[in-house]
Amino acid sequence: MNTGIKHARHLDAQDELKHYRNEFYIPKDTIYFDGNSLGLLSIRAEQAVDTIMESWKMHAIDGWTEGTHPWFYLSEKLGKMSASLVGAKPEEVIVTGSTTTNLHQLVASFFQPEGNKTKILADELNFPSDIYALKSQLKQKGLDPEEHLIQVKSTNNTLDTQDIIDAMTDDVALIVLPSILYRSGQILDMQTLTKEAHKRGILIGFDLCHSIGSIPHQLIDWGVDFAFWCTYKHLNGGPGSVGGLYVNEKHFGNDPGLAGWFSSSKEKQFDMDHTLTPADDASAYQIGTPNVLSAAPLLGSLEMFQEAGINKIRQKSLQLTNYLMKLVETELVGFTFTIANPRNDNTRGGHVFLEHPEAARICKALKADGVIPDFRNPNGIRLAPVALYNTFEEVWQMIQILKTIMNEERYKKFENKRGVIA
Ligand SMILES: *Cc1c(COP(=O)(O)O)cnc(C)c1O
Repeated sequence: MNTGIKHARHLDAQDELKHYRNEFYIPKDTIYFDGNSLGLLSIRAEQAVDTIMESWKMHAIDGWTEGTHPWFYLSEKLGKMSASLVGAKPEEVIVTGSTTTNLHQLVASFFQPEGNKTKILADELNFPSDIYALKSQLKQKGLDPEEHLIQVKSTNNTLDTQDIIDAMTDDVALIVLPSILYRSGQILDMQTLTKEAHKRGILIGFDLCHSIGSIPHQLIDWGVDFAFWCTYKHLNGGPGSVGGLYVNEKHFGNDPGLAGWFSSSKEKQFDMDHTLTPADDASAYQIGTPNVLSAAPLLGSLEMFQEAGINKIRQKSLQLTNYLMKLVETELVGFTFTIANPRNDNTRGGHVFLEHPEAARICKALKADGVIPDFRNPNGIRLAPVALYNTFEEVWQMIQILKTIMNEERYKKFENKRGVIA
């Protein structure tokens, strides 16, 4: 197969999404492959922040109900804009909180230990914050995490569907798993897992941090009970942008586990009654006043996702990662890189995960040469070529830079140790 720079340019020329790159601020002389940690700023997101600032300037307190995007309805509006990305109904999604606070809210709402059903099932590869949250939720209910949190074992940074199903024992009340593993990029089979959980009377929710904006989801069709995510990775909402959550409509009408006045039905909220009348949709899972300024960029960035369509984004992402893997195999022969992500299109997420004993300093050498990867302890290099702003030519260039670093052993100039943020 032809994999050279001509081929890369040919793929770029054919790319239907190529014009979106012009809408992003790409750091100068940089190949940015870290959009799965922090997505880049787009002009539209920047303008959306200006619009919200303008409404504060012009309307002051009345900005809650006036201006281009009245703040009182902003979380719902952004929820509607996100719904197609997760395959949910508009009223099943709300933009609120952060990944971790939303997980707390959802576990507080959906984990109701009863009789011998007192355990939460998770996995041993999930992001630490999720595990901390699950353990602290168990403690809140007076349950010892050592005994009540089950973490499914992994092999080679991946989880086996059957192992997870086998762990769905009678004592499990709730399952929380990632949609895509943050290291290996493995996509879990959410449809099968949901079906198997429900057969056993277990509720199931997913952390979509690494999948939202990267792959399509069919949460309603799969029957998933709840989901939650951040918006600063593939969704390009900016540092600390407001997260999101989904609650299946069959659960509407229940009190949220963690209530606040923004859990209210909108009509009742300003009655200031001491008895909460929760909203009859996913809005009920909000707690307090929305972080309007940190939600603002999403008005611009989600619009781009709606316009481009998640299926086209996924298609290009698969092509990019496929091309990257081919080049690793043909250009980096003999440098002991292992492609540690699943190869199959159905189980591979939006990034390539390379393992190498010198990964920490190879990442530093890449950065010194203008390539931004991210390092994952102890030996992983994550490379995320992002459909909306990366090109095939950048993939080609990155591989050439990496090849030079390896040939000239330039990584040896750096210490093989991670930085504070890596
Ligand atoms: C990024 C990420 C988080 C981060 O949680 P925050 O509350 O947004 O800080 C949590 N879980 C997973 C799986 C992630 O990828």
